Amino acid sequence: MLKDQDRIFTNLYGQHDWRLAGAKARGIWDNTKKLLEIGQDEIIEQVKASGLRGRGGAGFPTGLKWSFMPKESDGRPNYLIVNADESEPGTCKDREIMRFDPHRLLEGCLVAGFAMRAVAAYIYIRGEFVNEAIHLNEAIQEAYADGLIGKNACGSGYDFDIYVHRGAGAYICGEETALIESLEGNKGQPRLKPPFPANVGAWGCPSTVNNVESIAVGPEILRRGADWFAGIGRPNNTGTKLFCISGHVNNPCNVEEEMGIPLRELIEKHAGGVRGGWDNLLAIIPGGSSVPLLPKEICDTVLMDFDSLREVQSGLGTAAVIVMDKSTDVIAAIERLSHFYKHESCGQCTPCREGTGWMWRVMQRLVSGDADLEEIDMLINVSKRIEGHTICALGDAAAWPVQGLVRHFRPVIEERIKNKKAVKAA
Ligand code: SF4
Repeated sequence: MLKDQDRIFTNLYGQHDWRLAGAKARGIWDNTKKLLEIGQDEIIEQVKASGLRGRGGAGFPTGLKWSFMPKESDGRPNYLIVNADESEPGTCKDREIMRFDPHRLLEGCLVAGFAMRAVAAYIYIRGEFVNEAIHLNEAIQEAYADGLIGKNACGSGYDFDIYVHRGAGAYICGEETALIESLEGNKGQPRLKPPFPANVGAWGCPSTVNNVESIAVGPEILRRGADWFAGIGRPNNTGTKLFCISGHVNNPCNVEEEMGIPLRELIEKHAGGVRGGWDNLLAIIPGGSSVPLLPKEICDTVLMDFDSLREVQSGLGTAAVIVMDKSTDVIAAIERLSHFYKHESCGQCTPCREGTGWMWRVMQRLVSGDADLEEIDMLINVSKRIEGHTICALGDAAAWPVQGLVRHFRPVIEERIKNKKAVKAA
């Protein structure tokens, strides 16, 4: 269990002043110049040593990602892009950071941007986050006025600007290359990779796209030391993590815990337990809508980290924990997600554009029971033809929840179809 003093985003546990004076009182912007003085390469080494893996869903090692940025300029500027387009159903952790602790993110931008030799950071924020954008912009103005960013940021001799760019409500713009397209003023559609953004990113310049939480945690890793961060959690799954717990729990919440905490402990300790008690649990989606759900038997023992959840054919994703008790129509719940992915597909590649709609239509029939039993296998077959055959991961994200449903709740689907046929025959 995480000790209070190890929490980074303590803003989640009470009210405090999010403005510069409050941020400084909490240690943010405390001698940031000294953090930069260890040098760009050493910052990257420290982040690598901390074991920090990207908090946006993919879990790619953050320090390694930073190291892909060119060290020598060929005339093009480097950019840091912060992915604040938090749109995954069930996920609201980055919103909390920007709402309650915007200066923590801004200091993180400076540190990360300096390490990757970027001249500016663009924070691409979800359009619906109106108040958070206001907080960020006001915090940026405070930081400029105090000399923390801009020319000679924090007295370091390094010039660094930060801009906020508001999205327009498309889930796909959380995909890094679609985000870059949107930032450039184009339609938000993912690009084929390679080239990767570190070579050709925003406006053709080297760019790194990182999640809000990944960037915001950087200065604290440098202040407390990579060993401190690496000592929390489990090997290869280190550090603290923000979890968003929603659904059928007594106290839905955002909470910071150590990686690898047992799922059951996370829910019972912080969310007041499952409505009606743990035995009333049906299933949990452990990492946002893009990962397969898990039935109670697995939820009893599984740990909340990248590798443990992968072992049970699910994923940590954005760490949005969606709890469903036994009152849930689990087929309808996944059908709702299928509709979401159909709606959010950018339509650029055929397996996703056609497949997501096809899966949704079959899912609708499974909900009502108006399907044939053979369609269950056909549904899995089609989902496998989407998975791994598309330009971006939205196709996978649409396929996995459906696959998880059939993997764990096939008897429920079959029973509904048989019952419907029996009713019709009567
Ligand atoms: Fe667009 Fe879907 Fe293809 Fe991604 S997988 S590029 S969202 S059509």
